[in-house]
Amino acid sequence: MAVAHSLGFPRIGADRELKKALEAYWKGVLSEAELRRVGRELRAAHWQLQADAGIELLPAGDFAWYDQVLTHSLMFGVVPERFRPADGKPTLDTLFAMARGVTHQCCGAGQAQEMTKWFDTNYHYLVPEFSVDQSFQLSWTQLFEEVEEARALGHAVKPVLIGPLTYLWLGKAKGEAFDKLELLERLLPVYGEVLERLAAQGVEWVQIDEPILVLDLPQDWKNAFERAYNLLQRAPLKKLVATYFGGLEDNLGLAAVLPVDGLHIDLVRAPDQYPVILDRLPAYKILSLGIVNGRNVWRCDLDKALSVLRHAAERLRERLWVAPSCSLLHAPVDLAREDQLDAELRSWLAFAVQKCAEVAVLTRAVNQPGDAQVQAALQQSREVQASRGESPRIHKPAVQARLAAIEPRHSQRQSDFESRIEKQRTRLDLPAFPTTTIGSFPQTPAIRLARQAFKQGKLALTDYTEAMHAEIRHAIAVQEQLGLDVLVHGEAERNDMVEYFAEQLDGYAFTRFGWVQSYGSRCVKPAIIYGDLSRPAAMTVEWIRYAQQQTSKVMKGMLTGPVTMLMWSFTREDISREQQARQLALAIRDEVCDLEEAGIKIVQIDEAAFREGLPLRRAQWGHYLDWAVDAFRLCASGVRDETQIHTHMCYSEFNDVIEAIAAMDADVITIETSRSHMELLEAFRVFDYPNDIGPGVYDIHSPRVPDTTEMVQLLQKASERIPAERLWVNPDCGLKTRGWAETEAALVNMVAAARQLRAMH
Ligand code: GLN
Ligand code: ZN
Repeated sequence: MAVAHSLGFPRIGADRELKKALEAYWKGVLSEAELRRVGRELRAAHWQLQADAGIELLPAGDFAWYDQVLTHSLMFGVVPERFRPADGKPTLDTLFAMARGVTHQCCGAGQAQEMTKWFDTNYHYLVPEFSVDQSFQLSWTQLFEEVEEARALGHAVKPVLIGPLTYLWLGKAKGEAFDKLELLERLLPVYGEVLERLAAQGVEWVQIDEPILVLDLPQDWKNAFERAYNLLQRAPLKKLVATYFGGLEDNLGLAAVLPVDGLHIDLVRAPDQYPVILDRLPAYKILSLGIVNGRNVWRCDLDKALSVLRHAAERLRERLWVAPSCSLLHAPVDLAREDQLDAELRSWLAFAVQKCAEVAVLTRAVNQPGDAQVQAALQQSREVQASRGESPRIHKPAVQARLAAIEPRHSQRQSDFESRIEKQRTRLDLPAFPTTTIGSFPQTPAIRLARQAFKQGKLALTDYTEAMHAEIRHAIAVQEQLGLDVLVHGEAERNDMVEYFAEQLDGYAFTRFGWVQSYGSRCVKPAIIYGDLSRPAAMTVEWIRYAQQQTSKVMKGMLTGPVTMLMWSFTREDISREQQARQLALAIRDEVCDLEEAGIKIVQIDEAAFREGLPLRRAQWGHYLDWAVDAFRLCASGVRDETQIHTHMCYSEFNDVIEAIAAMDADVITIETSRSHMELLEAFRVFDYPNDIGPGVYDIHSPRVPDTTEMVQLLQKASERIPAERLWVNPDCGLKTRGWAETEAALVNMVAAARQLRAMH
């Protein structure tokens, strides 16, 4: 008989209970005992939900107080010295200190561990810090306690561990340089100990996640797999190695023959792994097929999934397991709560709880094909697929016709950069080292309250508009007083750089409770692209026009780009990401043109998530970059040469994508650099990046006000790499998170720095 199992469940709670409890605990208004009680109740509720849905083998150890990688660091005693308690025993507060930082009385140091994205998801993990003399010892017993807890509740659980190679891969060598793979021999005994203890608890199966098997791995890392698992083989319990987020490709043979008892593969991201895998899998091994998408919100096409599973069941018999593609951590919790979605749209969706039920019904369909419940579920699934296949809410002939009519010239500005910039310089008449900001200004409580009241219908449109106009006037007055050259309206009306636009586009839907953990207590509620996208009316023009009317300085219009819109939404699965990006690009293109028409001379199209979209495998980069660059060009190229297009990107790794960045051909790019001391401009210098650049000259993530000399020095460093006539002066992005006082103080110094540079050149 095939077995239904799950790789992990969202820990945050259907009502974000964990978030609320954590934040209350950090504020000191909830005791540790109460926080622990919330955790216990959530785990119990989640096991029950999964069991009720029909999952037979439940995950344990998928719960985390902050992040699962961090839990592993504690388990292995990988606690950086600055957090190490005197008695060597980490506590819950040690864990939170590692995640959030602390200020030590003595030295002040206690900077949080670095956080970075978990593969290509929007989940962030805490990067383990390894030193050359790193030792590992079992130091945290959470996993064993949770296994006990589940057993006490009568559940059979399969504990989830991050595998030794993935854990090392995700960490960073600190201090003296060394190869972190050398730590493997020291780390493995602790894994052995963990497995022994789980076995002693009566655990039959353990899931060991090795998602790095879907990456391009160096040969020594590949070799290390066999060595590592040969050692772990001795532990007296069964091991399922889980891979997800992509295909095994060149690692398929390696993964198939590891000396373990089962392998999980992701058939959503990489369906072609099946049936190839069958030829490589030893005859004793379990094969777990991840067939229900763990990373999206759509209902599974059961017939389609079943055709694969039936074939697999015939070949594998009782060696077949059925699962979501990856942990459900990346899906919202429960669709049942979405009472404000219309019935049709709702019938197309499945969140974590519903996905568990899909896995269960698919398993049952394999085991008992004639079952009435199975037949009913299949029938329902067919109806959903049929309704989605034909729905005029999804398929819009006008959008498709427009898409089909796109020609290469639509992605091409009228002239090349050299001629454009001449015309723009003449028209804009800006000084050397022109100063600007990245778009947002402080989002004060008053702004948030006004937006909220308006949304709830408690504030009339005219009053709301006037409140926002007042904010715009204030932002402009401040900028004029500061002497900035290119002004912005301040984005007071925007809750979020994606949601604000998504709400105004046709083809987007919104949930009430569709939260997904981003990191720690932070959750995001991505909008859902469900149909062909179009822009029924201008989205920003009235605000920007109003702003421009208040000043004789140049006002920069502010938009979010197509790739970022796409990356931070749940997307469709019936058409490609590329097609969705083009639809978004056309909508934004119209907005850019409307802004130009309204007399706006500069339009900034933010592409904060451009780099995030890169596929996990290098071989797929080229294709992604081609369409991502084209989507940007498509939205930027509807304007005349005189209209200046800016883009903004907020990360600091450009080396490997610089060619694509240049191909976007934005007239000006602003980037985050202050923390990297302008070193990342090296990529632009080496490439001979031709267009204008505004490297961030101060880090807005800190309330610290940088002084003028510091910024002058940074700009001088920048001008060693970029010709002075192409440099802009601006902070990093995100001023909306700061207060006005520190913003103004910092910008005064920034404008002074630009003036000093003008005097020097
Ligand atoms: N214009 C946005 C802002 O200034 C850009 C945000 C971002 O890039 N993350 O807040
Ligand atoms: Zn940014």
